[in-house]
Amino acid sequence: MNKKGRVFSGARPTGRQHLGNYLGAIRNYIALQEEYHCVYCIVDLHALTTLDQFGELRANTAEMVLDWLAAGIRPEETIVFVQSHVPQVTELHTILSMFTPLGKLTDLPTFKEKARMHPHNINYGLVGYPVLMTADIALYKSDVVPVGIDQESHLEFAREVVRSFNYRVGKAVLIEPQMKTTDYPKVLGTDGQQKMSKSLDNHIEMALTAEETVRRVMTMVTDPQRTHRNIPGRPEVCNVFTLHHTFTPAAEVDEIERDCRSAALGCVDCKRRLAQGINQHLAPFRERRAALASNPQHVWDVLSDGATRARRIADETMREVREAIGLP
Ligand code: SF4
Repeated sequence: MNKKGRVFSGARPTGRQHLGNYLGAIRNYIALQEEYHCVYCIVDLHALTTLDQFGELRANTAEMVLDWLAAGIRPEETIVFVQSHVPQVTELHTILSMFTPLGKLTDLPTFKEKARMHPHNINYGLVGYPVLMTADIALYKSDVVPVGIDQESHLEFAREVVRSFNYRVGKAVLIEPQMKTTDYPKVLGTDGQQKMSKSLDNHIEMALTAEETVRRVMTMVTDPQRTHRNIPGRPEVCNVFTLHHTFTPAAEVDEIERDCRSAALGCVDCKRRLAQGINQHLAPFRERRAALASNPQHVWDVLSDGATRARRIADETMREVREAIGLP
């Protein structure tokens, strides 16, 4: 099949992935493989800007890639690699930083937000983060970058830097990437309030055992007005019900909605059914993950092969960039 071009996406090495990662990103990564040549990068250098637990990077990378592979990322066709394994990205970052006004970086809402969250560690890397992100995209000659609606400004920034570079050197050396806006679902955590996140400890990992999944699902907050089993519930405000839409067959979801509203179904049973649905849905994934994990070297072999293929593209780009700006 003729593919439409190259997609690039980067993700921080956050370790074992949870349902929020799965529904919000991984499923999209898998689907994009059908239409595009995909380059998926574990952005460990980006992670350094705010990370203080350096010792976790390696294990987090391995766990995350295991989840990706078991979920359906195909490394035979998709390039999966670690950002720092292709050091050309830091060279392009330096070069592109000369084409980026400092005021533009410090004005970005994302920088202000990060500075607010890490007031004692506003380092240079944090300011230059979007330039490194632009270097990632440009280095691998990416045509398309999938972005959530709230991330469009990041990509617009990258496009501006690329345009500025191309304008200054007088030719289209770097590809101006197109946005593929995707409406990533916001998956709430077990608290039913905030986005699912490891740091908030409101997450449900994909790789949990069936029993661990039941325990975790049982902690989920439901409709706060349903303080007694006999009080009818409101599925529209309940995160358990939202997840049923993904993990439970449609006909059963209708029944759950009806029985919740009439109080025929209690929250404990409803959660048990959700846990069962999650376990059924993820059973093939968990089986593949266990098989892959039995050979810990496999992940690193995949990443090494990915880096070799990524480096080939990076070398070509850097040759063109150096020539365009006249580096001797
Ligand atoms: Fe939520 Fe299910 Fe309880 Fe209704 S029965 S409030 S959908 S957990």
